[in-house]
Amino acid sequence: MNLLVATRSEGKQREVRRLLAGAPFDLFFPDDAGVVQSPAEDGLELHDSFEANARAKAEYFCRKTGLPTVADDSGLEVFSLGGDPGVRSKRWAQATGTPAEVDAANNAMLLRRLGGAPDARRRARYRCVLVLVRKGGGIPQAFDAAASGVMLPEPRGSNGFGYDPYFLSDDLGRTFGEASDHDKDTVSHRGKAFRALLEALTVRPL
Ligand code: IMP
Repeated sequence: MNLLVATRSEGKQREVRRLLAGAPFDLFFPDDAGVVQSPAEDGLELHDSFEANARAKAEYFCRKTGLPTVADDSGLEVFSLGGDPGVRSKRWAQATGTPAEVDAANNAMLLRRLGGAPDARRRARYRCVLVLVRKGGGIPQAFDAAASGVMLPEPRGSNGFGYDPYFLSDDLGRTFGEASDHDKDTVSHRGKAFRALLEALTVRPL
């Protein structure tokens, strides 16, 4: 069985490979399936919910490849910022450059927006919504998961990607930047969502 995972992010691809290791299907990413990156892809993630963005990506790549496709949309929601950066997490600071430069600009924005806020105003959660489209025109199936924590004023650790060094996980008592891959996967929004997907695929295989 084949499954396309509709993400071009290297950080996410690494996590997805780990989370789906041992699962009974052959995993493809857009490059493996020969889908050349096009400007149309930028227009897929302009919706105002994770689910709508994930659905648009899953339907697009399923149409392009004919493969059962799962897409993830994820981001960070800081409660005192009204849920920002939310669906805009990836390009919050509108920086360009390498992934590391984009992450650094987003984290600088986070620090500016939170200023000297007390812990109570630093509560946040990562969210991940996966949408599975089994075939073109098929009914999409969504899996929604979250991981809670607090945004620290200083980074800790250099593992993970994006906002991870600032995200002190309630479950781990460490930042995702300090956590091993295995520990992050155990409690992360993406780990939980992919486990829910795997569970659904054992009940109803591709
Ligand atoms: P997406 O590719 O549109 O889903 O954007 C996700 C963005 O949310 C990433 O670029 C990160 O900024 C942020 N994000 C989502 N999940 C994580 C995570 O596990 N660690 C760190 N940042 C994350």
